[in-house]
Amino acid sequence: MYRKDGNPDGNPYRTHTAGELRAEDVGERARLAGWVSRRRDHGGLIFIDLRDRWGVTQVTFDPDSGEVFRAAEQLRPEWSISVEGEVARRPEGNENPELPTGEVEVVAGSLRVLNESLTPPFEVDRERPVDELLRLKYRYLDLRRGRMRENIVFRHRVVKHMRDYLDARGFVEIETPLLTASTPEGARDYLVPARLYPGQFYALPQSPQQFKQLLMVAGFERYFQIARALRDEDQRGDRQPEHTQLDLEMSYTTQEEVLNLVEDLYVEIVEGLSEKKLGAKPFPRLTYREAMERFGSDKPDLRFGLELGDVSEIARTSEFKVFRGAVEGGAGGSVRGIAVGGLGDLSRREVDELATIASLGGARGLVDLKVGKDGGLSGRTAKFFSGEEGEALRAALGAEPGDYMFFVADAKDAVVFESLNRLRLHFRDRLELADPEELALCWVTDFPLFEWNEDEGRIEPMHHMFTMPREEDVELLDSDPLKVIGQLYDLVANGVELASGSVRIHRPDLQQKVFSIVGIDAEEAERRFGAMLTAFRYGAPPHGGIAPGIDRLIMVLRDEPNIREVMAFPKTQNARDEMMDAPGPVTPEQLEELHIAIRMPTRRGPEQPPREAPNV
Ligand code: ASP
Repeated sequence: MYRKDGNPDGNPYRTHTAGELRAEDVGERARLAGWVSRRRDHGGLIFIDLRDRWGVTQVTFDPDSGEVFRAAEQLRPEWSISVEGEVARRPEGNENPELPTGEVEVVAGSLRVLNESLTPPFEVDRERPVDELLRLKYRYLDLRRGRMRENIVFRHRVVKHMRDYLDARGFVEIETPLLTASTPEGARDYLVPARLYPGQFYALPQSPQQFKQLLMVAGFERYFQIARALRDEDQRGDRQPEHTQLDLEMSYTTQEEVLNLVEDLYVEIVEGLSEKKLGAKPFPRLTYREAMERFGSDKPDLRFGLELGDVSEIARTSEFKVFRGAVEGGAGGSVRGIAVGGLGDLSRREVDELATIASLGGARGLVDLKVGKDGGLSGRTAKFFSGEEGEALRAALGAEPGDYMFFVADAKDAVVFESLNRLRLHFRDRLELADPEELALCWVTDFPLFEWNEDEGRIEPMHHMFTMPREEDVELLDSDPLKVIGQLYDLVANGVELASGSVRIHRPDLQQKVFSIVGIDAEEAERRFGAMLTAFRYGAPPHGGIAPGIDRLIMVLRDEPNIREVMAFPKTQNARDEMMDAPGPVTPEQLEELHIAIRMPTRRGPEQPPREAPNV
């Protein structure tokens, strides 16, 4: 692309990039363009680190160069320049082994200032922490920084690899509309008023789910898309209003095929493009039940042990009321624990802090017991357990002398799991149990098709309502829907969910049944999902797919703490675009055209969930 010979017919700004000159080029003429990264004035000479997308090259200005030198004296950080000169070997002792171009410099013969720069609001050339709001407001400067540039370029490579991989396997990339009708994925829709249809709205897609299934009815067999998914959720933690997923779908396929396809792709990406060490291969497969019982989570981090042990049977006959109470009555409660070594002796306050962590998962208390050198137990509640029971507790958790055992007892299994999951992850970080270089991928399968939404008192799909039940469970749809297992799968890495997918329902009668279980009657189904239900009546093939999230994958591969670091233009945690200042008001004329009148809320701020009535 660039003319190495500096031919005047070539690019007027550069003959080389700032990342490519090497010792072999010494003696050649080169023209470089980019930003002034740093200027140092030294022993009468001026040194510029000139930065472009490909790297940094040192440029020197000699006072003998007269006017050029005087122009260089004016240069400030982030000015855009083009310099031309001879490539020279750096004087001995001045090489920079950290830079690929570190053996050479360009001795400037001419300098063109292409554009000056205001003093940047933060130093672009240093990797010092900068306030994130400022970074987002001046994202175009933030993106000039090395770490961000590498993240974005890395992201491009991963996405390109996905495209090539799928293309080689017969997949077709097809775009689906942004302005469309709602496809529910469990979040709120972003709505767009339709000017031509007063009072009516398009919904931005929460995913291309219905379209990809319709593309299967249309016979494309293998579809993918690097798709944007828009979900208007309250901004908890690491959510963004828009995220990108590798959306894919196949016809005449099975769960096994989808898993193998994605697994091979991820092995290639991790081993071929990243510096991460891949964990077990093939990826371990755990059923949802197994993941919960062993790790207390359907997103298990497999890089370390601390697996849960179930002591419900021991609890059933225990004198200790907290234990017995949780499992009595057979209402689905349990008592489970983890054994943790290397903690020494914990103070009362430290144990209380652990109880606070467990309480975030709902636990109303944490039982701690320490195993002595002789195997005996100590702790506030040790007196409730006979020697035999103590032995059984130890055996159930695999506790060694010197270990602590922590137990959570609750009438709800989900509380026990979530509380112990939080403790397990706390100890992972506190005791540095997980290798930060490792990426331990696994599949979690056999999720329940539905879950019970306690707050709203109704059944909800665990993933979405287009998921096929396991064949052997179809009968249970009528009798006990919460027991039905779906053909549903998640890909998980180091405790983070990277992908979700399922085999889909392709028969209209079954689809209608699932709709009615989640409270959508035939009329509403026809209104909301009419196209899909009708399409299913035209010989819809069996099909299934998955949608790996791209932002999260890049985040874990690049060791970034959140997905904003791997998106070029993310929103803030409050869902604002600081740089473009969006959302913002529109003119009365625009509202008029849309037939919209604004009624301002009386109270500002995000909507609060309704408070639960206090127990009296
Ligand atoms: N549409 C789903 C999602 O976005 C993924 C899938 O089922 O393929 O989470």
